[in-house]
Amino acid sequence: MANQEDVFKKLVSHCKEYGFVFPSSEIYDGLGAVYDYGQNGVELKNNIKRYWWEAMTKLHENIVGIDAAIFMHPTVWKASGHVDAFNDPLIDNRDSKKRYRADVLIEEQLAKIEDKINKEVEKARKRFGEAFDEAQFRATNGRVLEYQTKWNALHQRYSDAMNKMDLDELKQIILDEEIVCPISGTRNWTDVRQFNLMFSTEMGSTADGAMKIYLRPETAQGIFVNYLNVQKSGRMKLPFGIAQIGKAFRNEIVARQFIFRMREFEQMEMQFFIKPGTELDWFAKWKKTRLAWHKALGFGDLMYRYHDHEKLAHYANAATDIEFNMPFGFKEVEGIHSRTNFDLSQHAKYSGKKIEYFDPETRESYVPYVIETSIGVDRMFLSIMAGAYREEEVNGERRVVLALPPALAPVKVAILPLVNKDGLPEKAEEILRELRYDYTCQIEVKDSIGKRYRRQDAIGTPYCVTVDGQTLEDNTVTLRFRDTMEQERVAIADLHKIIGDSVNISSLLRKIEND
Ligand code: ATP
Repeated sequence: MANQEDVFKKLVSHCKEYGFVFPSSEIYDGLGAVYDYGQNGVELKNNIKRYWWEAMTKLHENIVGIDAAIFMHPTVWKASGHVDAFNDPLIDNRDSKKRYRADVLIEEQLAKIEDKINKEVEKARKRFGEAFDEAQFRATNGRVLEYQTKWNALHQRYSDAMNKMDLDELKQIILDEEIVCPISGTRNWTDVRQFNLMFSTEMGSTADGAMKIYLRPETAQGIFVNYLNVQKSGRMKLPFGIAQIGKAFRNEIVARQFIFRMREFEQMEMQFFIKPGTELDWFAKWKKTRLAWHKALGFGDLMYRYHDHEKLAHYANAATDIEFNMPFGFKEVEGIHSRTNFDLSQHAKYSGKKIEYFDPETRESYVPYVIETSIGVDRMFLSIMAGAYREEEVNGERRVVLALPPALAPVKVAILPLVNKDGLPEKAEEILRELRYDYTCQIEVKDSIGKRYRRQDAIGTPYCVTVDGQTLEDNTVTLRFRDTMEQERVAIADLHKIIGDSVNISSLLRKIEND
């Protein structure tokens, strides 16, 4: 665990040192759970968004995009249920004065029991070797069964309490489980209270009678309220999808994991409108499609897993998360939900407008069902940084390399004049002018070439092009590859051919399609 925490800390400082992510308003000591993206971070983030956007809109001819406003009519959030029910149960520890989510404390307790079970399984796997039958071991081993019974009982009690939002019972579970505050180590807890996660502000001056409005806590509602506009103006036939990327805001109670849980973040959501009754097929299809999108990045299939929800929101009839193996364990990066016709029906009810689809084949009208895929850009960013970060020993020296998929790398080609004189910088400029229409390039002149290579490795640049005296004579350069560190002498005229498509988003899109 210490080691994992260590990796996470290194990752956070790497993000800052190399211009990926800075704490917001840092010169004023920062603002809780709000972050800014730096010069390299913004490029990586934009590439992630492009990868998602193009996978949605280019690979599916029945998905179109929109860009709805952050401010929406306040009734939207009444209809969606956010005003009444977008709450987290919070609890404070009186000694440390730290605030926690009661549900998270209990889930961590469940995870601890799960860990114990997994440890038993791993121990047995080592002992039995090849002959190990995991399913049988789990079903028969006394200690595992004991833990499992404990887990089941706690899980049942927790689910019941959450479904009824029984705050007293949540507190009682925390007391019965003897959960302590990780800071103070005590069980001196307050009662559990509800806390609404939406930020509000006022629109218009008080003289006009200002209206209380919310910063959207999810982008999805902008899609639902535009369903009719898009369907009619685009003459869309079911099934079809609407994709959107945009900011969302949640006043998170516990926001301690860097960009994993932020108060201002970005979502990429797609609502897929379908005929009622077909939802479970589409749900299964989207589960597969979305996992393939993640896997095409090449971090290894073992880094991902599904986490199916047993406890469903009242409007959902199937839900799963795609989790990534972060430095602090498997965590949700994306949610896939079968949301029935809940949102459209609610908006029809609250707005008084008919929100239906006329099916030209069956000649009936109905409210479409929806499958939603919802992923956080920032969490995706964190998972990519975590998956790409490596420390290696090279000739007795430490090298930190970000093995980013080249298509996502902030800089594709670094052009490095060996010395900052003798016409080499000018030659580098000439190469830049040749390549910059196709690739994001950077010229770096300061420091020794070795140091410059390391700096480019640390930001994940897949190719370095070194310009030296010989370049002026024969128009060749040294091309260095990030992952292998191999170097090749190549003609400037061949650079395009060698780098080619491998650094473009299209190469990632092809990987999804070909899998
Ligand atoms: P969690 O259980 O972690 O709070 P959630 O289930 O509430 O997440 P959703 O409402 O399903 O999350 O949102 C969809 C996606 O948006 C999540 O999978 C995550 O990637 C992202 N997301 C949600 N909340 C945050 C946040 N506070 N900071 C960063 N990303 C977030």
